Amino acid sequence: MGDMIQLEDGSWVTRPPEHCANGHPFRPGDIRTYSEAWFGCWCDGAQSRDKRPGHTQYTCKRCDAVTLVPACTDPSLKVGWAASHGG
Ligand SMILES: [Zn+2]
Ligand SMILES: [Zn+2]
Repeated sequence: MGDMIQLEDGSWVTRPPEHCANGHPFRPGDIRTYSEAWFGCWCDGAQSRDKRPGHTQYTCKRCDAVTLVPACTDPSLKVGWAASHGG
C-alpha cells in the first residue's frame, strides 16, 4: 500500500506525487489538482507492491499528464496504455 497522510480536516488520503511530469503541484486530497485511479498492470514494479498488481494512477488536472506509482517497469505496456487513452 502507498503512504497515507492525514489532512487538516482529519481524513486520510494516499500520498500523491509532489507534482506532475510538467511540474504542476499535486496538493494531497485536493481533487482540483489531480485525480486518482487504479491502473492494473503485471510489470515487476506493480507485482511487488500488493496482492492486486497494478499502479495508482495520478492524472494532473492542468495538463492531463499521468504519473504511475510505483513507476511502471514495463515501457512497452506503458506506451500501449498511453496510446489507448489518448496520452
Ligand atoms: Zn500538470
Ligand atoms: Zn506496470
